[in-house]
Amino acid sequence: MEKPKLIVDGKRLDGRGFEELRPIKIEAGVLKRADGSCYLEMGKNKIIAAVYGPREVHPRHLQDPSKAVIRYRYNMAPFSVEERKKPGPDRRSVEISKVSREALEPVIMKELFPRSGIDVFVEVLQADAGTRTACLNAASVALIDAGVAMRGMITAVAVAKVDGQLVLDPMKEEDNYGEADVPIAFLIRNGRIEAIALLQMDGRLTLEETRRAIELAKKGVMQIYKLQREAIMRKYMREGEDYEGSAEAAEVAKELSENEGGSEKEGGQSEQEVKE
Ligand code: UDP
Repeated sequence: MEKPKLIVDGKRLDGRGFEELRPIKIEAGVLKRADGSCYLEMGKNKIIAAVYGPREVHPRHLQDPSKAVIRYRYNMAPFSVEERKKPGPDRRSVEISKVSREALEPVIMKELFPRSGIDVFVEVLQADAGTRTACLNAASVALIDAGVAMRGMITAVAVAKVDGQLVLDPMKEEDNYGEADVPIAFLIRNGRIEAIALLQMDGRLTLEETRRAIELAKKGVMQIYKLQREAIMRKYMREGEDYEGSAEAAEVAKELSENEGGSEKEGGQSEQEVKE
């Protein structure tokens, strides 16, 4: 198919500006049988994340006596994409699972759970580009919902170059016909971006464009981070006095609310600064 024009009259095909995210919906605690869970929509992407653990690891030889073992499975439902996807793992999903696990591992306080395992399952129910980043956002919320002690939140978004222009959070057409696609995940702590946890790129950008892409992604993730935090708080508040989740989840929710608005300390970029 011939490449369509992706930017018309300064707007993207779905009417968004260059620095605009797709509509996002996040709900924590949607699955009864998982220890923690999250349903997330980012544009037409629909994702379910389920976390089990910390629990005993099977087979036992995989146990680590000093810390928890983290497993992450990214899976696309056969009906999630235009052309039916063959069920089961493929090269792409194995790679996405690996890099996503590596992005999450440093924020999980694994040393608190020796010999145990934490399993993160993410299921893509509907895909429209940016699923690895949407899945990481959902997984992060599900981990907190499960009461797993974390050093911060992982929040991710992609930036693309389309028709020579950098755009935030590309949808399918922009991903397919764009010049570059750069999914990025950040570690956010106390309302401040502390590190990059994942950065991939296909296509080509100049060094200057790469710097601008990272800046654009930073703006995007601070908005997503706010919604992740609100989703956790909503669950916490709804359950109010009858809150039955783990004490850690309640603690995290409290901590998240106390950090509302970020802080200017230690030279990090505050949420306020990013918004401006
Ligand atoms: N996609 C597809 N079939 C596949 C894999 C991907 O139709 O087997 C689509 C899907 O919409 C996905 C998009 O291609 O979101 C971009 O895939 P990519 O590998 O860039 O990963 P993502 O952007 O989803 O993280």
